[in-house]
Amino acid sequence: MRSSHYSPIDLGSFGRIAAWAIRVPYIGGTSNAYVLKSDSVVIVVDPGHPIGLGRFESQLAALALRPRDIDAFVYTHAHVDHFGNGALLDSPRAVHFAGHATARLLYEYGQWRGEKIAGVAFLADMFPAQAGEFTSLSMRRFLEGFFPVLPDMPQLHGTDRLQMGDIALDLLAAPGHSPDHVVVNAAKEQVLMSGDYVFRDGHISIGYHAGGSIEHYRDSLHTLSDLQPCIVLPGHGPALSDWSRLLHQAEGRIDAELRSALRVAKVSDPLGSFFGHRLREVGVYAAANRLAAYLAHLEVEGDREE
Ligand SMILES: [Zn+2]
Repeated sequence: MRSSHYSPIDLGSFGRIAAWAIRVPYIGGTSNAYVLKSDSVVIVVDPGHPIGLGRFESQLAALALRPRDIDAFVYTHAHVDHFGNGALLDSPRAVHFAGHATARLLYEYGQWRGEKIAGVAFLADMFPAQAGEFTSLSMRRFLEGFFPVLPDMPQLHGTDRLQMGDIALDLLAAPGHSPDHVVVNAAKEQVLMSGDYVFRDGHISIGYHAGGSIEHYRDSLHTLSDLQPCIVLPGHGPALSDWSRLLHQAEGRIDAELRSALRVAKVSDPLGSFFGHRLREVGVYAAANRLAAYLAHLEVEGDREE
């Protein structure tokens, strides 16, 4: 069972494109890299976190491919568990494509990784009761592992459409999880790579810590409902099929999130309550679990999705 997580998953052929999913581990979970191959090009969407670099390379080798065979990388958004390996793989001729907003963030990665790490001290001021967790040495080690130092990506381009050989991909704005997020659509082949926009059963992940927004999610649901993919390939978890049902389920979850936001907005300290609620629900515990996995193994064996 476990070994199958680290074998490429054959997703089949779509027109001229053959597609595989590669599961790439990172602290506390795995993310999906997608390999798209035609007769003329090899494109990788979201190559994953640097902690999983070796696992990515070994699965690529199982497809009889080397990093230097990759013609292009495409990124759905500027989260390290999606783009990190793109900066590290030995792919000298590869061109790197992202939406315009993501490309700007990737250019500035060196700066904002420092801000992310320093930002935890800010949280410690905001939530004095949890200050010890935010400022501990182990938290710092966790953050420096999660946001590693990375070299700049040469040949990085912000775009909303790319054509490489016989593969055409549209990068469509899909904010909500993060403001820069795009979904990557192979319209002709009806293959949609959805990044962290939506997961199995319509689960959503609003990255409040990184500018995520319920309102953006609600707006983008409408603009993306015209798409008609036959397969949806999310950034974490299994391949999905029914796009309109997924969006409908996501809409229900967004409404529930909005109701919970409105509930805490009525108390005397709405901002503190809301962030406290989010931290209790996902932040501190998720971070603690990942930290425990990291320190216990110093190599990730995790199987959590999301
Ligand atoms: Zn993300």
